[in-house]
Amino acid sequence: VFQQQGVNNISSDSVEKPIDKLIGGLLIDGFDERSCLSRYQSANYHKGLSPKPSSYLVSRLRKYEALHKQCGPYTEAYNKTVKELRSGQFSKSSPCKYVVWISFSGLGNRILTLASTFLYALLTDRVLLVDPGVDMVDLFCEPFPEVSWFLPPDFPLKSQFHGFNQKSEQCYGKMLKNNSVASSTLPPSFLYLHLVHDYDDEDKLFFCDEQQNFLKKVPWLLIKTDNYFTPSLFLMPSFEQELKDLFPNKETIFHFLGRYLLHPTNNVWGLVVRYYESYLANANERVGIQIRVFDTDPGPFQHVLDQILACTLKENLLPDVNREDDIVSPSETPKSKAVLMTSLNAGYFEKVRDMYWEYPTVTGEVVGIYQPSHEGHQQSEKQIHNQKAWAEMYLLSLSDVLVTSSWSTFGYVAQGLGGLKPWILYKPENRTAPNPPCRRAMSMEPCFHAPPFYDCRAKRGIDTGELVPHVRHCEDMSWGLKLV
Ligand code: GDP
Repeated sequence: VFQQQGVNNISSDSVEKPIDKLIGGLLIDGFDERSCLSRYQSANYHKGLSPKPSSYLVSRLRKYEALHKQCGPYTEAYNKTVKELRSGQFSKSSPCKYVVWISFSGLGNRILTLASTFLYALLTDRVLLVDPGVDMVDLFCEPFPEVSWFLPPDFPLKSQFHGFNQKSEQCYGKMLKNNSVASSTLPPSFLYLHLVHDYDDEDKLFFCDEQQNFLKKVPWLLIKTDNYFTPSLFLMPSFEQELKDLFPNKETIFHFLGRYLLHPTNNVWGLVVRYYESYLANANERVGIQIRVFDTDPGPFQHVLDQILACTLKENLLPDVNREDDIVSPSETPKSKAVLMTSLNAGYFEKVRDMYWEYPTVTGEVVGIYQPSHEGHQQSEKQIHNQKAWAEMYLLSLSDVLVTSSWSTFGYVAQGLGGLKPWILYKPENRTAPNPPCRRAMSMEPCFHAPPFYDCRAKRGIDTGELVPHVRHCEDMSWGLKLV
């Protein structure tokens, strides 16, 4: 397949280069193309992966696919372990162990937790099964060949998912608190792992090797989480070598796993491609600006607009305008920038768009401002709302340059899929624009917002952001952890 005209950001005078539709070997050939167009078309829009995935990661993915095919829904092995789960007994000989991802939280959070749960599955030789929730099937294609990743509707514990919390009898943290698990205890046929941001010290023992040793024996683990917990897996000695081999470059975890797992369904892909071709494809440069305001008031706020402009002008991401002089610059073929803004609110987009309409730029560049939707407020359970949200994260990931908002998983998804180190807008305090307005991210990895601060061996508190050079505190959240 060769580069199509107008697609991708490579200018027309560059040499046509073959498109790697299998993105560095992350994907395999042979899926039905029409049932999920994005799978093989995404390479036409994204830049290639850089660096390339390790050959070890590629071989582990193939090994995972084989395991999934052997153990996934309605296979013989699956039927057997489900039967045992129903009876509460299990045979040690079963070749299949599972981790069930329970659909929970906003879409950005869900995308990050899918990636971290899949990584956990890889590290522990478990099969990942995804609770379809209300909308997962409408948003994501099947990533694995032949056998579905969606948990079947007749899965025995399904009706309990919603009710699982820290107080549930089967919650591992609660069992540890009650001292009801000892290494001699017969392992239960399933456990619930509460890894939600409000989790407590016992739940956090999930990130200790000793507890992982016990969990190894449990055939079904059910996880509820809203956090990208990958950074803390990197602090566990038992996973250290494997992670090193899988990801020699530590900032590419979400970049690779996201591009491997997350393919928009045809509906969502239509939203992405139509928008991209209509408004973004022909510009010389694409700038993404993701605005997420965590305030009880919907806004728009003047201080947020000031901050967006201060950041983009100071960092030379957008040209300034000339408010004194309305002479149109003589440049013959002006360079064009297409700015994709995303926000629940239309106010910032309207102001920036008007500014570039009312005044000429000092550089003569032409700046178009576009915003696909302004949904007003978060409506996590509504289908088309989440399809648009997913399409917008994806469109942002196709930017050449990206500006994101602090604390927002929506922005993390865009930066990670795009392989971009964004400029992060600092979180405003007391409704004032911070100074400096933004800073460049250290890496393209998402931030883990609620990491444990605990030394499992010494059994005492420790600053986990100071232990190794590749796990640091985040730019946008001082207590968060991220891989760099
Ligand atoms: P976070 O809250 O910023 O970490 O991101 P999440 O994606 O987890 O949750 C925010 C939810 O609000 C999204 O899933 C969307 O449903 C909605 N949302 C937030 N910002 C936008 C936006 O710019 N565009 C759209 N379409 N939806 C948004």
